[in-house]
Amino acid sequence: MVIDPEATKRALDEICIESGVDVALHGFVGSAQRQDNRLASVTFHDHGGAHTVHARSFVDASGDCDLACFGGASTRYGNHGDVNLGTLGTRFGGIALDIQVSADMLVQAVGAARARGLGPITKDRSVVARLPGSGDVVCYLASADYDPRDNASLSRAEMLGREQAWVYLEILRSIPGCERAYLVSSGPDFGTRESRHINSVRQLTWQDVTNQVSQPDTIALGAWGVEWHDRNTFASTMQLPPNGGAYDIPLRCLISADTANLFAAGRTADGDKQAGASMRVMGTAFATGQAAGVAAANLADSGVVDPADIRKTLTAQGALLEPQRATRTDRHRLTAINNDVACMIVTCSERPRRIERGLREIRIADCSGGVEVGITTSDCANPEAQSAAEYCIEVVGCLTCSQYVRPRRPLMIS
Ligand SMILES: Cc1cc2nc3c(=O)[nH]c(=O)nc-3n(C[C@H](O)[C@H](O)[C@H](O)COP(=O)(O)OP(=O)(O)OC[C@H]3O[C@@H](n4cnc5c(N)ncnc54)[C@H](O)[C@@H]3O)c2cc1C
Repeated sequence: MVIDPEATKRALDEICIESGVDVALHGFVGSAQRQDNRLASVTFHDHGGAHTVHARSFVDASGDCDLACFGGASTRYGNHGDVNLGTLGTRFGGIALDIQVSADMLVQAVGAARARGLGPITKDRSVVARLPGSGDVVCYLASADYDPRDNASLSRAEMLGREQAWVYLEILRSIPGCERAYLVSSGPDFGTRESRHINSVRQLTWQDVTNQVSQPDTIALGAWGVEWHDRNTFASTMQLPPNGGAYDIPLRCLISADTANLFAAGRTADGDKQAGASMRVMGTAFATGQAAGVAAANLADSGVVDPADIRKTLTAQGALLEPQRATRTDRHRLTAINNDVACMIVTCSERPRRIERGLREIRIADCSGGVEVGITTSDCANPEAQSAAEYCIEVVGCLTCSQYVRPRRPLMIS
């Protein structure tokens, strides 16, 4: 999904106004005060100086878990030495809308640039998306191994990222039709995928997800895979949840283990390396944010954290708490629903299993890691698909290993 940043800002402003939220933009939380096992207040700084706000409950949605850390709650950085890589988003203009720029084309261009000794270059592959309106091309390539808690490290990374942005521009310009591309923007900030997490009452683990553990205090669902960007190789991998389905996120992984009135939201939530790499994405961050907010309000109003009450409120607000666990039959239905042009069954073995609805089957060596699979319309047996302008496959299920293979065209690897 591609979002329009300006429309998003405006929509969020409207939501805050409608909900009566007191908004304090451009304040930075630098400390929090603790009383026994609770937070008592938080102090933020802005151009007016320091301001202290007292509250009965708190949500840390800072991404870096600053509030929890400054308030003396138990936190940790990454997971056992592993921390997801950060990347500086770049936006390029000057590329006509009828010019195709694909991830594969970019990979080739990066390879050629490496061979000519161009640098610094980190990532070879990125999602390539066109922004609505401007048609600008967005890529997530310029990366750095830095520690977001350390200002000097972050500053070096951002400067290195900007240097890379110009190198990637040069690379982009080597793609036919992109000769007049220019850099519209970088960032604005380096994108930190992972920093500190709270240590919670009960960490969500990827084993919970693969075992499809039903959590009694589910307050949100996750559905994204383990999207990992490696700090050493700069390579990206993706491991989807079983059956491509949704999984339960328990309230307990949002509740601080040692600070009774503190909740985590977004990427501060407590997941192990893989669960954290799945839960951190925007849709899931919205869901854990909503849940943490409801839980904090529940505690402030009633003095207790009641999972049943919180679930009731979330359900009334329209939150999705019950995953539709995909069965094999569901998967077939899903392929049909998700693709109004054509769908295809892919296997990861050498033995073709079946061809459904007259569509062609293709085989791939290994579908682990969310391999991209695509055929051009002219390759497809479906006459409907042949008349479509673009690739004809969307979501496909691997019948051999039960993994889903993600859509080729809308695939967003961040
Ligand atoms: C390069 C990149 C590409 C991505 N692409 C996608 C994608 O395509 N789809 C997707 O779903 N997800 C994507 N993600 C993941 C997603 O953007 C983040 O994981 C998600 O934004 C996490 O949300 P969050 O609210 O937890 O943290 P953040 O979005 O980081 O928000 C934290 C906020 O807290 C503020 N803050 C931090 N510390 C303080 C403090 N001390 N005082 C006051 N304010 C503070 C920050 O300024 C920030 O506004 C991408 C991430 C990266 C890095």
